[in-house]
Amino acid sequence: KFIVIEGIDGSGTTTQAERYAAHLRSRRRMVHVTREPSGGPIGAQIRQVLTQRLTLPTTNQAQVMALLFAADRLDHVAAEITPLLEDGYVVISDRYDLSSLAYQVTSAQEESEALGGPPSSGTMLRWIRELNRYALRPHLTLVLDVDPEVAAQRRKGRGGARELYDDAELQARLAGAYRRAEELLPGDHVVHIDGNGEPDEIARAIEAVLRP
Ligand code: C5P
Ligand code: MG
Repeated sequence: KFIVIEGIDGSGTTTQAERYAAHLRSRRRMVHVTREPSGGPIGAQIRQVLTQRLTLPTTNQAQVMALLFAADRLDHVAAEITPLLEDGYVVISDRYDLSSLAYQVTSAQEESEALGGPPSSGTMLRWIRELNRYALRPHLTLVLDVDPEVAAQRRKGRGGARELYDDAELQARLAGAYRRAEELLPGDHVVHIDGNGEPDEIARAIEAVLRP
């Protein structure tokens, strides 16, 4: 089974991916946790852009990022995810193409409002879907819905340098995009979990939803 966990920054995707993996291991399942950007060579390049908050000399940064993420995804699926699924592992990915449909579409919208230039969000959405048309589909995408203020508080708590998408206005819009995740992923199996509570409480909610 291929399971994806999604949400805005600070929604707890990393924590809950690990928690659910531990739960499955305690039930003697073979589990592998991975994430986007991946640990591969293209993922490493994306992390540089994110952590250094690189602004590209273009008005189409969101499109460039969408292409990088789509390339990383192809590599990630072929090199890591598919072989493990074939070996019988449950693979849990901390983010997948829903992140592109949320982050890059929403940031393109901001770029376009600021510059009056790049494509509208409808055009970007269709284009990113096209880029990911042949990407392996998850069995289930779990969305952690968190208030942007709660997520911002958590990000502050964990410290570290500010990354590319760490912006209050953008994160608030993203929270809205994630609430409408099924519109972004028509035909996929999407489940929402309230991610505002304590980690234990959220982990129990996830286990309850995924039990059958
Ligand atoms: O903290 P984390 O490792 O989840 O940070 C990854 C960053 O990359 C996040 O800001 C995330 O939203 C972004 N990302 C993205 N598009 C993807 C995957 C990740 O914008 N497809
Ligand atoms: Mg994370």
